[in-house]
Amino acid sequence: MKKLILKKGRERSVKNLHPWVFSGGVESCDAQAGETVEVFSFTGEKLGVGWYSPDSQLRVRMVGFGAEAKEPDIAMLVGASVGRRADFFGNAYTNAVRLINAEADMLPGVVADYYAGFVVCQFTSAGAEANKKQIAEALMMFAPFCRGVSERTDVKDRLKEGLKCGENPFTNIVGEEPPEFIEITEGVCKFLVDVRNGHKTGFYLDQRDARAAVGALANGADVLNCFSYTGGFGLFARAAGATKVIQVDISQEALDIAKKNEHLVHMCMTDMQYIKSDVFEYLRKCRDEGVKFDMIILDPPKFASSKAHLMKAARGYKDINLLAMKLLKPNGILATFSCSGAMTRELFDKILFEAAVDAGRAFQVISTTRQGMDHPSAITFPEGHYLKGSVLRAID
Ligand code: SAH
Repeated sequence: MKKLILKKGRERSVKNLHPWVFSGGVESCDAQAGETVEVFSFTGEKLGVGWYSPDSQLRVRMVGFGAEAKEPDIAMLVGASVGRRADFFGNAYTNAVRLINAEADMLPGVVADYYAGFVVCQFTSAGAEANKKQIAEALMMFAPFCRGVSERTDVKDRLKEGLKCGENPFTNIVGEEPPEFIEITEGVCKFLVDVRNGHKTGFYLDQRDARAAVGALANGADVLNCFSYTGGFGLFARAAGATKVIQVDISQEALDIAKKNEHLVHMCMTDMQYIKSDVFEYLRKCRDEGVKFDMIILDPPKFASSKAHLMKAARGYKDINLLAMKLLKPNGILATFSCSGAMTRELFDKILFEAAVDAGRAFQVISTTRQGMDHPSAITFPEGHYLKGSVLRAID
């Protein structure tokens, strides 16, 4: 293995089990993209092994820590990661689960989502790309009842690593090609997943727990589900007995699938409506028309892709939350989320605090949520905890 030497005094974060070494911390290394290198401190102490990426600001991503760390055994890492999800396969709640969550599972830049027998991956580090065939073969072996493993290459993060993005965005790696839509079960709901054209690998698995928790509060409620994608929160609200659900999204494709998802499960009480609109505009329209709701869900896309965009993003979050807070009926519930990794829980809470003050309404926090258990984050890598949610109730 080639050696990478860190600059003087730059070993602390690796010793603290943080998986990223930035370009500014590297003294020397002459490895190729995707190679595994041994990482040494300036004084010659071996700190672990990592995947090298000469074109990236994230020059090395650690795949093993300590003096004993060796070239990683890919099959073992994949098997262990799948094994940690055994509980998901041991019950009937869902047949869709994230099997590998990148850094937290010691496979940096590797995401693998399982949808009823088909696994869809994203490889966003040079090391992940170099090992993708082995990773896919190991998934084929270890994922229960696995029929095929494919990848989506249309992730922008690939560009930062010097990897191609968007060409043949969907490619089968091993086994069978998945069907156009894969039907998955999540509790009382069913969803069609378009793994070729849908967002991410096709579905927002990370919001599984929040969909169930928030939906359960919707009995008898008039619900506005903003940024609905394929209907998730709205369909859980319907299953809990909401009287009316309005699903709003800017994507007609997403709404078309949401409508199909409605009909996968037979229920007849809820008035379901689908509206293609920009949420910022729709909330203002409701304000101008004086329409109010018992429950509003705000699950926007990532507003801040990095710390540099945080302040602009904060204004966006404040805007929609303030509008939503004013649109709630007395004792109404706001379920609000941020999936921007750069947005800390503290800052998100501060935005909600300011929005509540500006709305002139008192709110109590009923619960907070985070990404599901199949999306773990390492305790020494807080950046991996990206999804934060708060469920608030107006007390009027
Ligand atoms: N809550 C969903 C996931 C939402 S993802 C679930 O549980 O599955 C975010 C969604 O916001 C995407 O579907 C995207 O099409 C939509 N979106 C992005 N910008 C928007 C905007 N300005 N107005 C309305 N929808 C938007």
